[in-house]
Amino acid sequence: MTAIRDAKDLHTDVHVPVVIVGGGACGLSAAIHLHDLGVEAWVLERDAQPSGSTALSSGFIPAAATAAQQAAGVRDSIPDFMADIQSKAHGQAAPHLVEAYAHAVVPALDVLQQRHGFDWEILDGFLYPGHRARRMHSLPQRQGQALIQRLLRRAEGLGITLVTHARVVDLFVDQDKRVHGVGLQRPDGSRESLACDAVLLACNGYGGDAQLIQQHVPQMSQALFAGHVGNDGSAVRWGMDLGAGLADMTAYQGHGSWAMPHGALVTWALMIEGGVQINVKGERFHNETLGYSEAAEQVVAQPDALAWCVFDQAVLQLAQGFPDFVELQQAGGVIHAEGAPDLAARLGVPVSALLESLSWPLDGPDAFGRHFQRKLQGPLCAVRVTGALFHTQGGLTIDAHTRVCSAGGKPFPNLWAAGGAARGVSGPDVSGYLSGNGLLSAMAGAWLAAQDIFQERSICA
Ligand SMILES: Cc1cc2nc3c(=O)[nH]c(=O)nc-3n(C[C@H](O)[C@H](O)[C@H](O)COP(=O)(O)OP(=O)(O)OC[C@H]3O[C@@H](n4cnc5c(N)ncnc54)[C@H](O)[C@@H]3O)c2cc1C
Repeated sequence: MTAIRDAKDLHTDVHVPVVIVGGGACGLSAAIHLHDLGVEAWVLERDAQPSGSTALSSGFIPAAATAAQQAAGVRDSIPDFMADIQSKAHGQAAPHLVEAYAHAVVPALDVLQQRHGFDWEILDGFLYPGHRARRMHSLPQRQGQALIQRLLRRAEGLGITLVTHARVVDLFVDQDKRVHGVGLQRPDGSRESLACDAVLLACNGYGGDAQLIQQHVPQMSQALFAGHVGNDGSAVRWGMDLGAGLADMTAYQGHGSWAMPHGALVTWALMIEGGVQINVKGERFHNETLGYSEAAEQVVAQPDALAWCVFDQAVLQLAQGFPDFVELQQAGGVIHAEGAPDLAARLGVPVSALLESLSWPLDGPDAFGRHFQRKLQGPLCAVRVTGALFHTQGGLTIDAHTRVCSAGGKPFPNLWAAGGAARGVSGPDVSGYLSGNGLLSAMAGAWLAAQDIFQERSICA
């Protein structure tokens, strides 16, 4: 579907300084930052309304030493944040991107707050696995839908041109790999093209491309993909045709609690705060505190690829602070029971297995290496879940300014990639995903791309 075409075949009267492919968190925030710098950018979006994976997400963005975090009185630092990213990625995350993103996300969020009225809050109550400080930034609604709507309203308020129903299919490139323009396809099949000086690929990854997933993440090829349909691998396929480098293609964000059959994200806070997962035989099967991403593979490996998240009233109370969970509960997705025997009957699992699963030591690690602080008490709850693939963390090789590089490491003249279109900071494996790495890449990458495009003389001239 996507193609690299010869620049000589570009015929159009329409010229824009910067084309941004994709109107998710990355594309829209890059357009806002470019506007602040006085650079005109058009956002081309395949859907009727921008939503992307951003709208499906929880909208939680990790950052250290922002104005919002300092105002909340949290002690944190950029070096600590970088260390946490690398620690989760077993030291295998691209160091230049870890450093660039951990620094850039600060002005990215501060500017949106101070100049554009984004009222960031710091999530309270629990720490996501691998983060040593409270650094998840969220709008008060605590949903990705709110994030995308806010970005969209702000972009519209600034007069930024957003072209919807515009699926970019072609890049027009000369022999020096300079992009002269893009070709787009409308829903009725008609084609248009635009000339431009720079292109930012903000069209996310390849989680929805069955062929690329089979090739790079075969263990999740049968798993549910919970991301946006626009994750169709366009950026990677253009990159392959251009001779760009690709990196960390085996990396992805999974999630071990995707409610079934409701199709909703169940916050991992349930597990961190004392909940456990059992399979359909009533047996526990892993250390839930290692992270929700690697938990996806653990759940998918269970009979029927299903598990039950089991928790008590204290955890339920915390979970009810998350709008997604409240919606799930209203839709009947949470099973309530008076105690373990009642829960076993409701779940259809042997009561002996459930009792065994809920009897862990408090004076040392359990069989999976998990350290518990307490037992589950009183009435119990359960949610039926599967493991899902949320988004890929591999992608185009970029430098610290988000310029797309050739397989040999040389930056192309005027092509940038950020967010899920580029490689992330999770290293090569699912277990390297630190909570929030996705939106970190999107928000920080957008900032870096905007600054670098601004610096590019040919565009400012
Ligand atoms: C259920 C779920 C929960 C998540 N929760 C979190 C979280 O809490 N924190 C976190 O950090 N990450 C989370 N993530 C990951 C996060 O959503 C993504 O990493 C992030 O949204 C990526 O932003 P983006 O702008 O790169 O991509 P997107 O938001 O997907 O935007 C890409 C846009 O490009 C458009 N597009 C694609 N191809 C084309 C084309 N050829 N032409 C024109 N337009 C195109 C798409 O329609 C889309 O609008 C979650 C993901 C899922 C699925």
